[in-house]
Amino acid sequence: MMQQYDKAKQECGDALLLFRMGDFYELFYKDAEIAAKALGLTLTSRDKSKNAVAMAGFPHHQLDGYLSKLIKQGFRVAVCEQVEDPKTAKGLVKREISQIVSPGTVTDAALLEPTQSNYLASVVPPGKGASDFGLSWIDLSTGRFLLATVDQEKLADLLARLNVCEVIIDEAAKEFLAPICHQLRLTTRPSWSFAVKHTSQLLKDHFQVATLDGFGIDAQDDVAVQAAGGILQYVKETQNSTLGHIDRIEKYCPTDHVEIDEATWRSLEIGQTIRTGSQDGSLFSIMNRCVTPMGARQLGIWLTSPLIDVAEIETRQVAIEEFATQNSLRKDLRDQFKNVFDLQRLVGRVTSGRCTPRDLNCISRTLETLPAIKARLVGRKSEWLQKLESEIDLCAELRSELDSALIDPCPAQLKDGGYIREGYNRELDDLRKLAAGGKQWIANYQKTICQQTGIPSLKVGFNKVFGYYLEVTNTHSQKVPENFIRKQTLKNAERYITPELKEYEEKVLTADEKAQSLESELFNGLRELVRANTVRLKTTAQIIALLDTISGLAELATAQSYSRPAIKDDHSLLIVEGRHPVLDVLEPTGAFIPNDTTIDEELGFVHLITGPNMAGKSTYIRQVALITLMAQIGSFVPAKQATIGVVDRIFARIGASDELSRGQSTFMVEMTETARILNTASSRSLVVLDEIGRGTSTYDGVSLAWSIVEYIHDHLGCRTLFATHYHELTELESTFSGVRNYNVSVQEWDEKIVFLHKIVAGAADKSYGIHVAKLAGVPSWVNERAAKILDKLEADRTPEKEKEKISRSAEVSRRTFQTTLFEIADHPLIDKLKELDANELTPMMALELIHRWQREVSEESNSKLAR
Ligand code: ADP
Ligand code: MG
Repeated sequence: MMQQYDKAKQECGDALLLFRMGDFYELFYKDAEIAAKALGLTLTSRDKSKNAVAMAGFPHHQLDGYLSKLIKQGFRVAVCEQVEDPKTAKGLVKREISQIVSPGTVTDAALLEPTQSNYLASVVPPGKGASDFGLSWIDLSTGRFLLATVDQEKLADLLARLNVCEVIIDEAAKEFLAPICHQLRLTTRPSWSFAVKHTSQLLKDHFQVATLDGFGIDAQDDVAVQAAGGILQYVKETQNSTLGHIDRIEKYCPTDHVEIDEATWRSLEIGQTIRTGSQDGSLFSIMNRCVTPMGARQLGIWLTSPLIDVAEIETRQVAIEEFATQNSLRKDLRDQFKNVFDLQRLVGRVTSGRCTPRDLNCISRTLETLPAIKARLVGRKSEWLQKLESEIDLCAELRSELDSALIDPCPAQLKDGGYIREGYNRELDDLRKLAAGGKQWIANYQKTICQQTGIPSLKVGFNKVFGYYLEVTNTHSQKVPENFIRKQTLKNAERYITPELKEYEEKVLTADEKAQSLESELFNGLRELVRANTVRLKTTAQIIALLDTISGLAELATAQSYSRPAIKDDHSLLIVEGRHPVLDVLEPTGAFIPNDTTIDEELGFVHLITGPNMAGKSTYIRQVALITLMAQIGSFVPAKQATIGVVDRIFARIGASDELSRGQSTFMVEMTETARILNTASSRSLVVLDEIGRGTSTYDGVSLAWSIVEYIHDHLGCRTLFATHYHELTELESTFSGVRNYNVSVQEWDEKIVFLHKIVAGAADKSYGIHVAKLAGVPSWVNERAAKILDKLEADRTPEKEKEKISRSAEVSRRTFQTTLFEIADHPLIDKLKELDANELTPMMALELIHRWQREVSEESNSKLAR
């Protein structure tokens, strides 16, 4: 058996091997040690002798739970099953690996987050002389499959934004790629599986096409094709299934979408919050009003890839507007969606062959909702909605077949049977009747025997070993008739059988067995039928997902009183009474103070926002970035009115001390990220800088912040919001035409301050740091003392004093310079030099003179020192 184990272990590479032995899954050797730690299992040993084998295991019915724990910890796991019935097998039971599961290839509902896509990615390094990487990613649970050719920076950004949970790479490129894909779960694969010829052939074969041109893939995409083929190869090996739900591949063009880099994605808290790393409190969680997980995932996809094309954005807006303005339509549709199951993932499970009767029934019940949804959509104004409506495929034949076949509600287990409806199959009905009749006879038999023997407590029972039996407690043992055959002795009772009982048992059991195998045959037929309809179901599921996202955004727009922004192809950014989308929802109604934003050619494109800590600077600049992002996915925005000139990129950076350290020097991180903006932003980008320069000393910081603003103004010309507590920067307004000062107003009241959270034109007049400290509960002694020190410092810093200081220091430096000059002029050496005729000198003589003078000078200074 250990030979069998070794063979399986070789097949599954670095995956942990769960080896089925009877009713247990066992792990051996190193695997056992790892799993014992990861799962809290007891480590035992198989062989008590000196070459003991470490071993750990758990009962087979706990597979799902343990598998889920291992996957969540990032392990790859291979499950090796017994593929023969141990009872009938001759010799050793045959075993085979039935599935290899890894974070990127899970398809079980229990292991997946319903509202999140689960991506497996593949990265291929640039070819010789090229600079672009190949990237491909797939959500195996739904079959969504994409590829892209991207430079190194975009690669890192995409991997972060997509929240990829596993990356496969060529083992030969590991050293090169590991630092680029840092912090991701890497799985290395043999080089041949990424080879150019192999991968393109594999993709063509899978999609049954002669060329990949139809997917928009061209000659420049060779590396991307390698990456995609590498994924397909890996998935084929690990999934053991037809993969029919992977019916197309999309090419992702980075230039069609707003680029959001990793730092921006993180600091704007789009997918998760910085503090907890969870979805709660993120932009996504606030925006997600979808009814189905499919809609939620679609919203996630939109957020990761906002649009740039004005017409495309408007198409979405028109559809959202129609749902937003028609309340009863929206409500009806959303009520219908409540009865819709996760059709995308259900179809995924059917193609992978791991579906249950309940899954098929869920598909059937989802199909049942379609006619009403379709009917409700007829006659929409939005052309896009019309198109979606027309493409909903009711799959009526499939539905009626599933409907007549499956019991509702349906059991989740396949093995116990009982999921096929009565009346669907004559033979099955007959077998069931037979079995039921036998069971009835047995029930009657118990009654008769009780009367005949006079044993009131006599019971008929059943177990797998003896089948049906009669149980008599010891108190009545002397009443047992002769024809009872004793089978088993328990503590307080004896178990018997009789020939008649065995005869009926035979009937019941064979009928039951036959019924069950017929049921599972019928189930396989239904599954194949669904599988044959994969593409139709997938298309329909995608439409439902989109409709749910659209109506979810419409619901959000209505509930939060959003407005539809005007989308322009220019450099404007005009927001009237804008609100921060997250605080708008989380704060009590009316508590959030709305603010205006006016960026355009005349009103300046670089806005400096000053104001005390806690005034609301960070909130305000993020709000502008988030509103822009929301507008570009087609959503309505939390504002009374907005005009958004589409941006090609959004950059958001937070100064070092505002962000939790990530292992690197925070200032270094701050500057690296800033460098990226300065090197890549275009005039169409939106840049949001929060306290940049704070990570270093004040003078350094001010100077850096100053020159960054200058550079953005003169060289990039992009819309920029810069929140800073450096007042010095407000001077920039007078020199640069595109710079405008804003501040967050506060009111001083009896030496206290009240934050108004209102952005107004002009520079803040002071920092109010001490006021804030007071609010925070710093002891009053410290505050009073600080106020005095500040007074003195400020008095010292008045312009007159500064000027005086400067002129004084300038004077001093001038005087010292002159005295030294005179001292030199008076020196005897000077006279000697003057007298010298350089033309008369040989090189040797010159050298000698230099030596002598050197000696004289050093003697002179030594004697000065001695004095
Ligand atoms: P700053 O960056 O100026 O230090 P923040 O933007 O971090 O200030 O805001 C401080 C706090 O003020 C936030 O936690 C938020 O709750 C509140 N706040 C900010 N802006 C507003 C607003 N417009 N309306 C109401 N509360 C606000
Ligand atoms: Mg701040």
